[in-house]
Amino acid sequence: MHDVAVVGAGPAGLAAAVEAAEAGLGVALIDTAGQPGGQYWRHYDENHARPDDRVGHHGWPVFTGLRDRMYALRAEGRIRYLPGHQVWLITRGESGAFTLRVTVATSTADGADRTFIARALILCPGGYDRQLPLPGWDLPGVMTAGGVQALLKGHRTPAGRRAVVAGTGPFLLPVATGLARAGVSVAAVVEANGTLGWLRDPVGAISAPGKGVEALQYAALMARHRIPYRTRTVIRQILGTDRVEAARITRVDRDGRPAGPDEEIAADLVALGWGFTPSLELPLMLGAETAKDVDGSLVVAVDDHQRSTVEGLYVAGEATGVGGAALAVHEGRLSALALAAALGQPADPAVMRRLRSAVRRGRRFAAAMHRTYPVPRAWPHWLSETTPVCRCEEVSYGDLRRAHDDLGAADARTLKMLARPGMGWCQGRVCGFATAEIAACLSRRETTSEDLRPLATRSFAVPVPLGELAALAEDTTAVEATEGATEEKTRRKRGRERE
Ligand SMILES: Cc1cc2nc3c(=O)[nH]c(=O)nc-3n(C[C@H](O)[C@H](O)[C@H](O)COP(=O)(O)OP(=O)(O)OC[C@H]3O[C@@H](n4cnc5c(N)ncnc54)[C@H](O)[C@@H]3O)c2cc1C
Repeated sequence: MHDVAVVGAGPAGLAAAVEAAEAGLGVALIDTAGQPGGQYWRHYDENHARPDDRVGHHGWPVFTGLRDRMYALRAEGRIRYLPGHQVWLITRGESGAFTLRVTVATSTADGADRTFIARALILCPGGYDRQLPLPGWDLPGVMTAGGVQALLKGHRTPAGRRAVVAGTGPFLLPVATGLARAGVSVAAVVEANGTLGWLRDPVGAISAPGKGVEALQYAALMARHRIPYRTRTVIRQILGTDRVEAARITRVDRDGRPAGPDEEIAADLVALGWGFTPSLELPLMLGAETAKDVDGSLVVAVDDHQRSTVEGLYVAGEATGVGGAALAVHEGRLSALALAAALGQPADPAVMRRLRSAVRRGRRFAAAMHRTYPVPRAWPHWLSETTPVCRCEEVSYGDLRRAHDDLGAADARTLKMLARPGMGWCQGRVCGFATAEIAACLSRRETTSEDLRPLATRSFAVPVPLGELAALAEDTTAVEATEGATEEKTRRKRGRERE
């Protein structure tokens, strides 16, 4: 049994694992990816890396510092690092210990163990691109902005030759400039909001001074590559027969309602990014309470020690609110030190104070960013009756509207039952946010956590082969036996100590 299992080796998980191990806890670090870094520090295969791999990365020395400490702790046997392993189910036995079941995610993972037991958990599963449907978004050549970025960072592969990058938020800038540096002609960055929103919360805007420097660097790169930046503009339709040929864009008002003539931009790649959706499968599986964040995302509710409402469960990084890698590192460290203290290894109070204050500042900056770059309220009005919303189950906007108008589906859960969005392969990971917003918009009210939660809750975190399910019955017996044996050993040890 491990003292703590950390899920995710991105900025939050890497920081949490290192800090927990250095505080004296026995750590298992489990991550789907084949090498550490998560989304922000995703990089080319370390076995074939080149000296320029740090290009396009911010905070690279922070990453290499954490990675080297993690590898050193692994060599000392203080961290068990399992890259290429995906946690698909977590349960809790009567002893209170958590049982994690994993499936092998990459061909390089050895996959010898499928079950891990830990006294406590730090979940740092990050997030993924939030998508809004629009006419033509299912054409080949349309990708998520994060997907385009992942191909660039992880595989040095540009996804097209002439690109339009669209949606909202600062993340569009690294994607556009990354593409330009890789030789792609970037026809435009199409930003749904203006940039003056930062002025509404100047204190929030300056709460992360490093981000200001990053923004200036991106502005310089945008100018150097002559990339047009079109604010208060959205893509209304993506055009093409067999694949993307052009994007039809239009100016919009503050709410996202079209306010100008359409214009067409030729492109073979459209990268869409509307912020990120936190990955909540694992914390929801354990019954953690959630809240709606400033950007409209469902997030895990945590206290100022990153403790969730489930005893022994700490959550850090994007799953508690989208706020960037630096904030994720602070939260990861804080969660590990708070857990170590709870398990009898108290941390330096000054360090804890500094971390809590860094997290508060990071959250303040994130809130200012989310208020500057909201998803436009009127976005469902861009849809036509035939626009696919759930691509797995081929559910169109018209299907959802009819379920609402004719069958009385007034919330996301009922829409899901009557029209099947979110019932397919991805279980609502892609269409969940959009379906929740459409449900609220059709009923002329604000989106609530109750709209978001049913589409974020899944029985398993990821699809698994039937063999894994079949093995579950045998594993259950094995796990109970292991847990029983461990408890028995602990009882005997305590007995001997008392004697
Ligand atoms: C595709 C993508 C690209 C991004 N690129 C940038 C960028 O270029 N610049 C920028 O400023 N921000 C970027 N971001 C945002 C940035 O990634 C985050 O701010 C930051 O990485 C958050 O750190 P984290 O540790 O919370 O999560 P992440 O970095 O997302 O790390 C989470 C880790 O958990 C693992 N994981 C998730 N679920 C499981 C599971 N069930 N079992 C095992 N492992 C699991 C994931 O594989 C991942 O390695 C990107 C986000 C995404 C989704």
